[in-house]
Amino acid sequence: MRTKTNMSQTQESVREDGIIASVSGPVVTARDLDARMNDVVYVGDEGLMGEVIEIEGDITTIQVYEETSGVGPGEPVENTGDPLTVDLGPGLLDTIYDGVQRPLDVLEEKMGSPYLDRGVDAPGIELDKEWGFEPEVSEGDVVEPGDVVGVVEETVTIDHKVMVPPDFEGGEVSEAHSGDFTVTDTVVTLDNGEEIQMRQEWPVREARPSETKKTPRTPLVSGQRILDGLFPIAKGGTAAIPGPFGSGKTVTQHQLAKYADADIIVYVGCGERGNEMTEVIDDFPELEDPSTGNPLMARTSLIANTSNMPVAARESCVYTGITIAEFYRDMGYDVALMADSTSRWAEAMREISSRLEEMPGEEGYPAYLAARLSQFYERAGYFENINGTEGSVSAIGAVSPPGGDFSEPVTQNTLRIVKTFWALDADLAERRHFPSINWNESYSLYTDQLDPWFQENVADDWPEERQWAVDVLDEESELQEIVQLVGKDALPEDQQLTLDVAKYLREAYLQQNAFHPVDTYCPPQKTYLMLTTIHTYNDEAFKALQAGVPVEEIIDVEALPRINRIGVQEDYEEYVAELKDEITEQLRELY
Ligand code: ADP
Repeated sequence: MRTKTNMSQTQESVREDGIIASVSGPVVTARDLDARMNDVVYVGDEGLMGEVIEIEGDITTIQVYEETSGVGPGEPVENTGDPLTVDLGPGLLDTIYDGVQRPLDVLEEKMGSPYLDRGVDAPGIELDKEWGFEPEVSEGDVVEPGDVVGVVEETVTIDHKVMVPPDFEGGEVSEAHSGDFTVTDTVVTLDNGEEIQMRQEWPVREARPSETKKTPRTPLVSGQRILDGLFPIAKGGTAAIPGPFGSGKTVTQHQLAKYADADIIVYVGCGERGNEMTEVIDDFPELEDPSTGNPLMARTSLIANTSNMPVAARESCVYTGITIAEFYRDMGYDVALMADSTSRWAEAMREISSRLEEMPGEEGYPAYLAARLSQFYERAGYFENINGTEGSVSAIGAVSPPGGDFSEPVTQNTLRIVKTFWALDADLAERRHFPSINWNESYSLYTDQLDPWFQENVADDWPEERQWAVDVLDEESELQEIVQLVGKDALPEDQQLTLDVAKYLREAYLQQNAFHPVDTYCPPQKTYLMLTTIHTYNDEAFKALQAGVPVEEIIDVEALPRINRIGVQEDYEEYVAELKDEITEQLRELY
């Protein structure tokens, strides 16, 4: 527990403590503080939480995670001697935190508002709650770091595996207790005296250890056609969603949080405009997990740092998030981490860097921006854990480039790192084409390594079908340029037909209504069948054209508009089979 320093104490009696020399927003310098880099300190009479970020001679520089107004030189600074850590254990799910892992509901109770939280300390997980612990080891078993020693039902959806902390030695189990315990009770004792509790701590800026990182070969299926079908992300993959305001970033993130086939969702709301984050805080607890019918929060941990929270807490929030993600990965789960938005995180870095008077890089961002971004995305991956299980952390970062300009440093540096890029497009959103992901600009570098999975689990010709769609869409965008100059009717008939096929790809396949109860989630099988229906139309239509049928008659065939309704069909297999037959029949009747 921390203790408040008394101003009248002498330097000798508080050896480790220092005195504030200057305060500049979130950056405070202290004199005579005996500290190491990244130590957590308590600043001022109110004991505001901060972290050491620079040491030069006698002067220690601290970034403070709370509002510093009213704090002044001469006040004490107390060093905890520990780095910034998160509490890990049951209770992380179904909780909303701020950037330094203080549960918002606890803060609200203590302070009357989640945003007026100066000097309040709250444990990251509830300390007095009892959990039913079921041991999975017995006396005499030998356990190593990372090994699972028991299970707790954390929420209706998730079994929480209690593991030997990675920094323990491990040994022979001398006692294992079954029953109700708090997170700080000892549940398993080892012969070397090590006591295993449900709670462990981990420094946020350090990746949790793993055995190996593997090439990811399983898709994180999202149920969104354009993503699974054209630009898939792997379990353990990285993706960026840059999106100008109003382009559907929030809806896309919500769809992913709801439908991505991850076991655990960690959602880091990093300094978005206050009201947007409030929306997430209000919305998420209402959402249902479509695969279980349980509340979505039962598999979600939410970290919410609004832009009216101090800048330094925004800097730390993505680390808190990814550490929680790694902890569940260690249990063998697939975790999807969403950070919204990494631009605000980068801006926090920029602000702190400028207060430190560091040499600025591009657009005032610190020179280490690229390194920080890549350190963050590096922690994603498909891992073999130290306990032999496999687990993954997929990292999806939203980027909000000012004015939608993708050439700015945060977007550019992110693009160099991530392997999937879903470019949201304000023009598409304006035309009400949703999800407004631009298919010409987006890409995924995972398609090749994920194809075998789709071939095995959906259809053997999945890669060819995708390539066909990509080619038609490419051709369409070239043809559109000509159409703009000379009009559609000036095109040869085969090209007019291609435009019609592409129209169905755009309107039926790429568009998907997040608010329709059926269309909102499209299983890969349905994605595939929709594509092959359009492909059937294409092949039969070109046969008819070759047989001399005029293009106007072909594109006017009665069955065709029903392609646009595949998305909303629950019994899509039957519907698609009939539709393919009818399209074929009606087109063949023309010649
Ligand atoms: P942003 O977060 O980028 O500002 P939103 O995600 O709030 O934008 O989207 C703006 C609006 O666009 C939504 O309120 C909704 O009406 C519409 N929209 C976005 N995506 C979809 C979608 N997949 N299906 C239907 N409507 C959508």
